[in-house]
Amino acid sequence: MPQSLGNLFILAAPSGAGKSSLIKALLQNHDATEIHNNEMQVSVSHTTRAPRPGEIDGVHYHFVSREVFQELISQDEFFEWAEVFGNYYGTSKVVIEQTLRKGIDVFLDIDWQGARQVKAQIPDTATIFVAPPSRDELLRRLTERGQDTPEVIQERMNKAVSEISHYHEFDYIVVNDDFDAALAELDAIVSSRRLRKEKQVMRHQSLFENLLAND
Ligand code: GDP
Ligand code: ADP
Ligand code: 5GP
Repeated sequence: MPQSLGNLFILAAPSGAGKSSLIKALLQNHDATEIHNNEMQVSVSHTTRAPRPGEIDGVHYHFVSREVFQELISQDEFFEWAEVFGNYYGTSKVVIEQTLRKGIDVFLDIDWQGARQVKAQIPDTATIFVAPPSRDELLRRLTERGQDTPEVIQERMNKAVSEISHYHEFDYIVVNDDFDAALAELDAIVSSRRLRKEKQVMRHQSLFENLLAND
C-alpha cells in the first residue's frame, strides 16, 4: 500500500480488557474537540458470530454467514482474517485503503493473529496491546458487561492467557486500570504517530515551500 496521510492503529487485548470502550471514547473525544472531525474511524469487521443484544449490523460488525465469509475469503476481500472463539473475523481491504488515503486514521480492534498479518503487510502500523490490571478484574469486567453466557465468559478467560502471551509483539502497551488514564495514554500514542516527520511533511508541504522560498 502506498504511503498515505492517515495512520493505521491496531488495538488488541484479551476480551474484556476494554479496547472497544477505549476506541469509542477516543473517537467521541476527538469528534467533540477537533475542528476537522472525521479524522478517525474504527474499522467495522465482518464476523460469523451472532449479534449480541444491542449490536447493529453494519455498525458494530457486518454479521454474515460462514458461507458468505468463505466466499469473501476466496474473492480476496480481506486484508486479514482469523478464527477467534470458533467464529471467523475479518477486516475488509477496500475500506481501509480508501480511508487511509483520505488522510483519516483507522483503528482496528482485532486479535493478535490479525495484528501480525497487518503488521507484515504495513510495517508502519502502530500496534497497541491493552492489558487488564489483573485477572480478577478481567473476569469482573466480562461478567459485568453482561453480554455473554457463563460458558462463553469461561472460554474467553481461558483464551485470555494465549492472547496475553503475545504482548511482546506489539509496539505499545497500555494498562487499562483507570479508564481516563488509559485513554490519555492512547491519545498520546495517536498524537505522536500523527506528528512523525513523514506525515507532517505530507500535511504541511506548502508551509515548508513557503518558509523556504527565496524572495
Ligand atoms: P470483544 O473481545 O469483547 O471485543 O469481542 P468481539 O466479539 O468484538 O471480538 C472477538 C475477537 O475478534 C477479538 O479478539 C477481536 O480483537 C477480534 N476481532 C474483531 N474484529 C477482527 C478483525 O477484523 N480481524 C481480526 N483478525 N480479529 C478481529
Ligand atoms: P473489549 O472490547 O476489550 O472486549 P470492553 O470495551 O467491552 O472490552 O470492556 C469490557 C467491560 O469493562 C465493559 O463493560 C466496560 O464498560 C468495562 N471497562 C472497560 N475499561 C474499564 C476500566 N478501566 N475500569 C472499569 N471498567 C472498565
Ligand atoms: P467479540 O466476539 O467479543 O466481539 O470479539 C472477540 C475477539 O475477536 C476480540 O478480541 C476482537 O478483537 C476479535 N476480532 C473482532 N473482529 C476481528 C477481525 O476482524 N479480525 C480479527 N483478527 N479479530 C477480530
